Amino acid sequence: MVRLCFKLTLVCDFKRIFAFFIALIFISCSTIPDNNGWKNMQEPIFEGKIYKQHRNVRFIISSDIEPKKREILITKCDTYIEDNLKIIKETEFIDSLDIILVQDLDEMYKYTREHVAGKISLIEDNENRNMIFCLYRGKKSPLKHELMHMIAMCKWGIPEGGLPLQWLNEGLATYADPKAECDGYLFEEKYTAFLYSNKLINSTSLMTDFTYSKISYNQTAYMVEFLIQNYGVEKIKLLWQSGMGKFEEIIGLTFEELILQINNELSQKYPNPIDFNWPKFEEGCY
Ligand SMILES: [Zn+2]
Repeated sequence: MVRLCFKLTLVCDFKRIFAFFIALIFISCSTIPDNNGWKNMQEPIFEGKIYKQHRNVRFIISSDIEPKKREILITKCDTYIEDNLKIIKETEFIDSLDIILVQDLDEMYKYTREHVAGKISLIEDNENRNMIFCLYRGKKSPLKHELMHMIAMCKWGIPEGGLPLQWLNEGLATYADPKAECDGYLFEEKYTAFLYSNKLINSTSLMTDFTYSKISYNQTAYMVEFLIQNYGVEKIKLLWQSGMGKFEEIIGLTFEELILQINNELSQKYPNPIDFNWPKFEEGCY
């Protein structure tokens, strides 16, 4: 009798355990209808988000983005990665990465505690993943800009010495995605407008007190364009990995002399101030 009870209890327990595991499998595999590989995020902070692993990148997006648009987004991102790799003459990006697309600045604040359009977090900064948090509203997104930061740092490391090379880090990312600036001007035109309006940021401030303003992003983007066209991206990589202390040795000019060279060339190309719509430039798009 004792023996039978024991057996019955075992059978009942087995049924319960079996049901529990079925429920668990159901919960952990719960996918959205018409999923195409998209699954619900389980972490409470990502409530309402779905994810899909595509090669080395996990996309985390809002579930209300239409299925067709989700796939377009992945294809676009592949192109951004390819374009960025070409700019810095690298071939493959295989580091694991989470891309979290957010709807507005409030949602950005929820994840990053900052009201910014984009933010990256490298493996060294958090537990185990490289992450990009990025505003995404159709065409208006700094995703390619943020991907350039991520790819350059995964390939070349953190810029040597940190802050003094922040102008190069931001300049390279801005140069990679002119459309993210939403003003329709070429970097060259914007730089010329800053030059004629005496709004250029001087070499010392760029190195010691980099400010995240539209002028600093666009000024440094043109400086990077000029460096790539006249000195090659290999020198930029060397500078990135050696620090500003080696600038003159690598480029053959001081930082200040480089800025003077750019200013002289643009003054010759544009002998008169260009027609520039400052409110349109300053308006921004995020
Ligand atoms: Zn940036």
